[in-house]
Amino acid sequence: MKEDPDRVRESADEIARNRYLDILHQFTLRQSSLAKLEDIVWNIAKTAIAELGFEDCVVYLIADDGLMLKQVAAHGPKNPVDREIFNEITIPVGQGIVGHVAQTGEVQRIDDARLDPRYIEDDDFRLSELAVPISHDGRIIGVLDSEHHAAKFFTDEDVRLFTTIASLASTRIDTALTMDRLEKTVVHLEEARQALEMQTEELREARLAAEAASVAKTNFLANMSHEIRTPMTAIVGFADLLAKGVKDPEQQEQWRGQLTQNARYLQDLIGNVLDMSAVEAGEMSLKFESINLLSAVTAAVENLRVRADSKNVGLETVVSGALPSAIITDSLKFREIIVNLLSNAIKYTERGSIKVTLSAENRGAKAILSVEVLDTGIGIDSGQMENLFLPFSRVHDTHHRAGIEGTGLGLALSRQIAAALEGDIVVASTLGKGSKFTLTLPVEIPAGSHWSEHHQANPFAVGPSKLSTAPYVPGTKQLQGLRVLVCEDSASIATLLEVVLNAAGATMTQCVNGLEGLRCFEEQNASGAPPDLVLMDMQMPIMDGYEATGHIKAVRPDIPVVALTAFALADDIDRCLDAGCDYYLTKPIQIETFTEELRSIRERLDA
Ligand code: ADP
Repeated sequence: MKEDPDRVRESADEIARNRYLDILHQFTLRQSSLAKLEDIVWNIAKTAIAELGFEDCVVYLIADDGLMLKQVAAHGPKNPVDREIFNEITIPVGQGIVGHVAQTGEVQRIDDARLDPRYIEDDDFRLSELAVPISHDGRIIGVLDSEHHAAKFFTDEDVRLFTTIASLASTRIDTALTMDRLEKTVVHLEEARQALEMQTEELREARLAAEAASVAKTNFLANMSHEIRTPMTAIVGFADLLAKGVKDPEQQEQWRGQLTQNARYLQDLIGNVLDMSAVEAGEMSLKFESINLLSAVTAAVENLRVRADSKNVGLETVVSGALPSAIITDSLKFREIIVNLLSNAIKYTERGSIKVTLSAENRGAKAILSVEVLDTGIGIDSGQMENLFLPFSRVHDTHHRAGIEGTGLGLALSRQIAAALEGDIVVASTLGKGSKFTLTLPVEIPAGSHWSEHHQANPFAVGPSKLSTAPYVPGTKQLQGLRVLVCEDSASIATLLEVVLNAAGATMTQCVNGLEGLRCFEEQNASGAPPDLVLMDMQMPIMDGYEATGHIKAVRPDIPVVALTAFALADDIDRCLDAGCDYYLTKPIQIETFTEELRSIRERLDA
């Protein structure tokens, strides 16, 4: 039986329609479970196109700027590895066949690319190309593009299918794109929120720090104002009274005593404040050197013996166990801590005695030093122990500390210095009974240092130091016959030096600047009667002390030059020593210490 040709065409059409519907059905089903943009575009490229039997397919989307087409998914030679596009390219909207579709929204079917100048070769040259727009709400958002090696490959049905797939996918792509942008916006917003939160926190911390700094500054100023004004009032007041002339010598003496006491207090205060601000500015410079341990402690302790003696408080020094002869530390700072602890012990003890115990633990190339200062003074309440070390904190009520001068800086400073030297200060105390402050300091032991026991009654009096430990007796002619050349431009300081030196039995020649001092020195030297010692102010007009010292030392390196400097920081001291000075004394000078220092320098010269 012969087949009806109409029926044959009808069934071929039916098969084609069924395939068409089946592909779309499968495509819709698969797409329905996808939500992410990436999944959607790769599914279009891979699944749908594979079933159409096309050689390749590339999904393009227009970038956010609306100017470029980006390849976002591919199937065929452009997709060698899962979800990767080989040699990914971008095409400007308006260029090439794909760019044309993106610009106009027109479907483009090319039967022979050789005849179309718009054709852009991507991975390979293919004769047929089919490009359809992906549009949503009248907006073109991308292009679906397929190429084939054979000419005239794409049929009308392919065009219809491709267009339908593009339009079915467009809503999903647009929704996914919107979601994508939304997600990015959410991420950005979250990042912005976190950044804002961090900024707020930083601002809050900065505000708190500024507030704390402001409170500290206010406290500091209030403290300083009080601490400075109180003694200043006394100084100005007593000076006025004395200037008016007092008949009663006893009263005159009393007022003079008050004046001196207050001036000394101010001197200590300023010294401590300067040190403290250097520490807080992180400018505490350390200068490590090898020093004789016993001599260093002796010098510090013996310097304060006069004060203990004047209060009738005993001062005993003990060495416990073996000690290294030499240690490496910052000698000035080491001394400052001992002086602070010991002068506190003397200040806060009215009767009884103070015992300074020095010991060291041998750790090979190192040692752990311990300097213990034990007193039988007023003691400290257990609740106040840590406050002692806060700047400006004075823990005794006015009743207890009446008449005891102080700034509340000594311990704060001492602990900071100890910390800088990697040591510590601890305290144990019983109110009304006494206190024990212990400095612990790790130190290096220099080569050549030896450990030995010290059994002498007062071991502090021995040691290689030539420094005299004999107590200063006011009024004795300690500097009898010493000829001193003083270079000092301040008339009042020169007068003070003259009074002090003459009282101690020394004679003095004064010059008002370095140049005059140098001439005077040369004259005296040429006449065979050079000075025994030169006291040199460092800051002077015409020629400063540094230069004058250099010239003097070039001629007579054996004559000691003692720098008198108003700058007491480590760098300034170094500068004096570098200029050739043998010793330095910092202004303002304390008469007792000053004559004592000159006496020990003289002793060293005589030795
Ligand atoms: P200050 O200049 O007041 O002596 P410090 O910082 O040296 O300042 O000491 C802080 C406070 O600690 C002192 O005001 C005092 O109340 C207390 N203190 C320090 N040393 C002793 C001590 N040896 N005995 C009793 N109290 C002490």
